Amino acid sequence: KPLEEKSNTVMDTQCPFCSVQCKMQVIEVQEKGRKTYQAIPLDNPASQGRLCIKGMNAHQHAVHPDRILYPMRKVDGEFVRISWSEAIRLIKEMFTRIQQEDGLDALGVYGGATVTNETAYLLGKFARVALKTKHIDYNGRYCMSAAATAGNKAFGIDRGLTNQLSEIPFSKCMILAGTNIAECQPTLMPYFTQAKENRSFIIAIDPRETATTKIADLHLKIKPGMDAALVNGLLKVIFEEGYVDQTFIADRTKGFEALQEHISTIELEHIAEITGISVKQIQTAARAYGKAETGMIFTARGVEQQTDGYMAVRNFINLSLVTGKIGKIGSGYGAITGQGNGQGAREHGHKADQLPGYRSIENPEHRAYVAKVWGIDEQDLPGKGVSAYEMLEKVYQQEITGLFVISSNPVVSSPNANLVEEGLKKLKFLVVADMFVSETARMADLILPASSYLENEGTLTNLEGRVTYRPGNRECPGEVKHDWQILCEVAIALGKETYFSFSSAEEIFHELRIASRGGIADYYGITYDRIKQEGGVYWPCPSQDHPGAGRLFETSFAHPDGKAEIVAVDNHVPKEQMNDQFPLYLTTGRVMTHYLTGVQTRRSHTLLARDVESYLEIHPKTAKKYRIEDASLVKVESRRGSIIVRSKVTEDIREDTVFVPMHWGDLQNVNKITNQALDPNCKMPGFKVCAVKVNPLVGT
Ligand code: SF4
Repeated sequence: KPLEEKSNTVMDTQCPFCSVQCKMQVIEVQEKGRKTYQAIPLDNPASQGRLCIKGMNAHQHAVHPDRILYPMRKVDGEFVRISWSEAIRLIKEMFTRIQQEDGLDALGVYGGATVTNETAYLLGKFARVALKTKHIDYNGRYCMSAAATAGNKAFGIDRGLTNQLSEIPFSKCMILAGTNIAECQPTLMPYFTQAKENRSFIIAIDPRETATTKIADLHLKIKPGMDAALVNGLLKVIFEEGYVDQTFIADRTKGFEALQEHISTIELEHIAEITGISVKQIQTAARAYGKAETGMIFTARGVEQQTDGYMAVRNFINLSLVTGKIGKIGSGYGAITGQGNGQGAREHGHKADQLPGYRSIENPEHRAYVAKVWGIDEQDLPGKGVSAYEMLEKVYQQEITGLFVISSNPVVSSPNANLVEEGLKKLKFLVVADMFVSETARMADLILPASSYLENEGTLTNLEGRVTYRPGNRECPGEVKHDWQILCEVAIALGKETYFSFSSAEEIFHELRIASRGGIADYYGITYDRIKQEGGVYWPCPSQDHPGAGRLFETSFAHPDGKAEIVAVDNHVPKEQMNDQFPLYLTTGRVMTHYLTGVQTRRSHTLLARDVESYLEIHPKTAKKYRIEDASLVKVESRRGSIIVRSKVTEDIREDTVFVPMHWGDLQNVNKITNQALDPNCKMPGFKVCAVKVNPLVGT
């Protein structure tokens, strides 16, 4: 019997758990009163018919009995069901009172990068037009801000990959820096294995041996936080051995002389000492990349989530530019975006310093354009707010006294999470819109039930800059609403009906297109019909007859003079250093089966069965030194607090470093101990390096 015959519903969708946005069908089968689900991969230019374990099981959270089905208000410490009209009335009353008592900027909006483009756009407008606050930022600040800022400064544009994924097999040398693609974006791995079959030389840079570094020809097991310095070593060899492309540098770049002068002061032996990578390995890597006819560099959170992440990324971009390996087939740079809409959610005005189209909130022309699209007086458009962690600090300091959190779990995802939790307790009013009672939602005064990926229609933008369409075929359970509907209802209650009378995601997208027109991230030529017909459209796409830009920078960069910016980068060291009291580096990351803080994937029984708890990866010699046995409970302590996790003794990690993944809360929440120091350029916290001590739990 064909499956369809006994199916209730066949839902075309795409996986919400990473930036590849793999297409699939989820089939809901109803038989004898019992529903079962099956995910089937669909062909698509990025995923090419592949799905990983997260995608295969993504539906499990959407149909989970823990879903919040009704608005819930906290009364005497317990959540009590209330109606939507009561919930909206309560928000109006509390937000109005807070702004009367504490000022307009006493309200903050905290978003996430899993939301659709439409919601990201609407969140920016909601904060500025409905609430009139300058405080809006989102969890992408913890994710993409270093690479985004670097791309904008170096190229004049921030789009995750400068090339299409399909070019990877044609690259003759690739540098994978601080990225664990095999676990975080598993369906991309065949591109790299295909490249290897084409004799590409792959260099991995990571303090840990991972499923990704295992495919590399050369693994540089770097000291955490030393990426910028390592690239200075690579540049030294590139310069000394003549692998620079002088014609490209002269015609297409500026700032080369300062870099050349800086690199002349670099000593390879010193770089080897501070990075933990031998001179020979540095030379091998530099020669492989320098000699290769084509080359691609990919960075991810390992490089970016550092207090000098922005400059570290700039140095990798320097490497692409001085060798002329960009803007050609098989040559380019890419930041491997993590979150499900990590690219799109950062383009449409969802950030403290940004307006739609990647416009600047501080630029008078940009402000005037967006104010006109929104139909407001430019004077009424608030100014620049502060970054995600700084906003939470303002909550702690009681400068922000009301917070609207949507699609995010800052109690687990923020550094120095104890302070964040203490801050949220001080709020006069916390509203959280989510699918589940997350660690943040349980602190809320009001929880609003939000829809899942199977229910919420909209567009998303994948790591290549390809705008994709996701239908929302499943009916919302209970009284669940889409996040854009929630924002519109609150805004209308606050008297802003003129600006928020949207009745579909497509209507919002239409306004987004106009607001983005002429901006860096220009979506004007993209429509729902086009995306559906073409299977996705790349931005920038300024008109409907524009094909979209698959490969960037073939003839020109996006700065007004068409040139890319090269910059000299110091050998930064992490802001927090090891000492006798805290003798080990802690670095954090992800595992294949979980997404972000695990709010959704911990509700998937299949995924949870694979990784039910967090762990501490520790080298056997280090474990022996600190009397830690394999699979035993360990207290891991930094200057900010402690956590308890089970040990995993392995030679995969450096002796001076331990690793804990970031998907669990409470006692296992690694962000209770991570470092809140921020990169001054992009405000990325230094998640990837902090100093810790470890002790066996028993007897401590
Ligand atoms: Fe694809 Fe990423 Fe989902 Fe895996 S997690 S199925 S790679 S979108």
